[in-house]
Amino acid sequence: MKTEVHDADRQTWHARARAVHPGGLALINGALVPSRAGQSFDCISPIDGRKLASVAACDREDVDLAVAAARASFERRDWADQAPSARKRVLLRFAECVETATEELALLETLDVGKPIRDSLSVDVPATVRCLRWYAEAIDKRYDEVAPTGSETLALITREPVGVVGAIVPWNFPMLMAAWKIAPVLAAGNSLVLKPSEKSPLSAIRLGQLALEAGVPPGVFQVLPGYGHTAGAALASHMDVDCIAFTGSTATGKAVMRSAAQSNLKRVSLECGGKSPNIVMADFDDLERVARAAAYAIFFNQGEMCSAGSRLLVQESIRERLLEQIGRIARTMAPGDPLDPATTLGAMVDETQTRRVLEYIDSGTREGARLALGGGRVRIESGGCYIEPTVFDAVTPRMRIAREEIFGPVLSTISFRDLDEALQIANDVSYGLAAAVWTRDLKSAHRAARALRAGVVYVNCYDADDITVPFGGYKQSGFGRDKSLHAFDKYTELKTTWIDLS
Ligand code: NAD
Repeated sequence: MKTEVHDADRQTWHARARAVHPGGLALINGALVPSRAGQSFDCISPIDGRKLASVAACDREDVDLAVAAARASFERRDWADQAPSARKRVLLRFAECVETATEELALLETLDVGKPIRDSLSVDVPATVRCLRWYAEAIDKRYDEVAPTGSETLALITREPVGVVGAIVPWNFPMLMAAWKIAPVLAAGNSLVLKPSEKSPLSAIRLGQLALEAGVPPGVFQVLPGYGHTAGAALASHMDVDCIAFTGSTATGKAVMRSAAQSNLKRVSLECGGKSPNIVMADFDDLERVARAAAYAIFFNQGEMCSAGSRLLVQESIRERLLEQIGRIARTMAPGDPLDPATTLGAMVDETQTRRVLEYIDSGTREGARLALGGGRVRIESGGCYIEPTVFDAVTPRMRIAREEIFGPVLSTISFRDLDEALQIANDVSYGLAAAVWTRDLKSAHRAARALRAGVVYVNCYDADDITVPFGGYKQSGFGRDKSLHAFDKYTELKTTWIDLS
């Protein structure tokens, strides 16, 4: 099966794509349903502008139903009170179902958001499976605590599920960003209402169905497709939701926090945007390696990555040589047909995002940066949304392309004289998600790692990743961490129970 998946050629994927008719219904209380008001929206593929599905446009009424189903399942305790080993078995089965559906899910993801099929197959689906398995395995390996209060009392510190969790996720890694919420939320025994982005609803709906098939009881996991200002806002301001786990832009994160404050003071965790610096010191001798990592850090997933290394901070003496090498690599990454397994750069998610990125490219030129590579929209005849890998040189820290998250394949190069200046520029933005430094000098590496105000710091690498480590930001990149055992903090309440032994 796996060999067949990876051996399929462009024609085969196109034939499979034509045969796909994705479902667009919401999943509430174990049943696929249209929105109560009968509203829907078109799901359009950015590959060629083809309509993929009509999707339920859920709104407040649907949110009420989904939250009520989640609340009822939580009160029945038919998930929360299952033995840990039983919940683990179900989540492992869920992971298995996702793995078996690799080809189908990868195709849905590629059609829906335009990412290359090779990435959906080799990154998105396997990482989703790993995430589900890892949290399933964690369920029966975590212990609670007994406090050292003395012989006259027993004080238990236990973790309980928080209750009904609303997860609101973006479109850049639709399935994986959802899995980073779904897995720890369910592993901790909560009930869940997942709202995928209106730009990428398809894989989330399938994940909900697969969870049911695997034995997650009806009502424990709902999927509500819909717009942010309707379904998302209704979920964030719902009086019976205990927690919102949000991934998306900083602006929306602020709106979610306001909604939580103005409703029931539900707890909120925010995984927001970034403008991550990738600092290259002149003492790092392997420029070829840096160039490859720097190109990957900004062009992988069409640059639609929260942790994208979108600011290349390079020491002046090696600037030209490094840019030359990055340019050479970028020229091999021209956008291509996402259904061709040879393609490494696919389509932008939609017209709106394409226009937004092109507008940033214009602003870079207007503000005086030098367009060193790319900058244009290509493959227009396909009917899809494609932008060339783009590199700006001579960027200054006050320019918009140096400060704002573009979320596209656009690299801004800023030069610096010494490490102090690099760190000052690196930290001088409102974001703090990721940062990298390349140096052979031990002291510089440690100084930079300490000084960089970011949730993740890479030294002499950019793409290190593992489910065992926390991921999340400082400053306006949000708070709370996805991945690792720390994610459980967001989805559990800490309870202290005193027992008198005197
Ligand atoms: P977005 O903020 O536009 O939307 C995110 C989600 O919020 C969507 O489901 C949307 O429908 C919903 N939403 C919109 N308005 C809402 C409202 N008023 N109330 C409640 N929900 C609302 O972000 P996007 O364009 O989908 O995603 C891109 C952003 O996500 C980027 O900023 C990127 O950096 C960020 N991101 C962060 C991480 C991370 O881990 N830190 C990971 C991936 C993406």
